[in-house]
Amino acid sequence: MKSQNFIKLNFPSKSVNEGFARSAVAAFCAQLDPTVEQINDIKTAVSEAVTNCIVHGYRDTFGIIYITATITDNTVKIKIADKGVGIEDVNRAMQPLFTTDTAGERAGIGFAVMQSFMDSVKVKSALGKGTRVVMTKKIKPRDQNVITA
Ligand code: ATP
Ligand code: MG
Repeated sequence: MKSQNFIKLNFPSKSVNEGFARSAVAAFCAQLDPTVEQINDIKTAVSEAVTNCIVHGYRDTFGIIYITATITDNTVKIKIADKGVGIEDVNRAMQPLFTTDTAGERAGIGFAVMQSFMDSVKVKSALGKGTRVVMTKKIKPRDQNVITA
């Protein structure tokens, strides 16, 4: 039987909560005994997805961000969702350097960063209804008591 564990986090789309979300998900993933690099990868991916909910999904307003992280065996699946404006064309939005930001503050690399740090990234979105990003990462068990003599 597969062993499973999960957490759910709901919080308002205030940028002060981005650091909390990133650290909370990372703390949950610690039970998989990840390397520092793997934990940093997860933190960065969560940070990009949550920031997108804040700055794009809920653009000039505030709403709730919904996170579920589920660990099944050695894989963590992280869902990050908003009920904001949604994305018109997800394929185009996920292309590196694509951004709808007109103020010149954004590079358009958030999705590319998520894809490079996680094993899989899937995005579902509907205009006026919101966006859901689902990312997975497998954390291989590290060898214990390795004899190198
Ligand atoms: P960067 O992440 O480099 O600061 P960015 O946020 O524009 O810039 P991506 O994170 O790759 O780049 O997102 C690309 C585009 O997808 C955004 O410009 C925005 O139009 C759209 N987008 C992403 N996430 C959401 C979301 N949660 N709700 C609505 N639109 C989104
Ligand atoms: Mg972004």
